[in-house]
Amino acid sequence: MRSCTACGLHSTRTNSVPGSGSSKAEIFIIGEGPGFNEDQQGLPFVGRSGKLLDELLTSIPMTREEVFITNVVKCRPPDNRDPLPDEVAACRTYLEHQMELLDPKVVVTLGRVSMLRFHPKGKISQDHGKILEWGGRILFPLYHPAAGLRNPTIKRELQKDVLKLPEALRQANRVSPKKATAK
Ligand code: URA
Repeated sequence: MRSCTACGLHSTRTNSVPGSGSSKAEIFIIGEGPGFNEDQQGLPFVGRSGKLLDELLTSIPMTREEVFITNVVKCRPPDNRDPLPDEVAACRTYLEHQMELLDPKVVVTLGRVSMLRFHPKGKISQDHGKILEWGGRILFPLYHPAAGLRNPTIKRELQKDVLKLPEALRQANRVSPKKATAK
């Protein structure tokens, strides 16, 4: 990923951002794509959204060291625009391999772009905080923390939804052991 040139985003990146966290994580958190701070540091969710994500994890209580955090695309889209379909497609195998290696029980998607990657017909306004099943894993869509920073109502929803993550993990232990990757 550090030397990838599979899509146009490589030409504007400072660093690619593969992800960070525990290789034994049962919870795999997927944001949209790196922002300015993430591009500078090569680490996911290190800016304001990341601070809110840390607070949300603390409330359940968990730390980012216990989970794995990554993004749908590993390089920053210019001006923080949504990643384009061809950029998401170019990064697809990285996400698939990460899921194969980590074999997480719960996939938490942050925001619409990330949710649509797994649940193409989903609507974030309806599906946030729902414990869904996806290929033998639990899929748990949440609003994106950046949306929570812009909108206090969404922030409250996020704070409420994240409290269901321990239950999502319990349910994950009850679903089929045959798990799909991000294919
Ligand atoms: N927003 C994201 O979607 N991902 C990050 O890593 C940071 C902000």
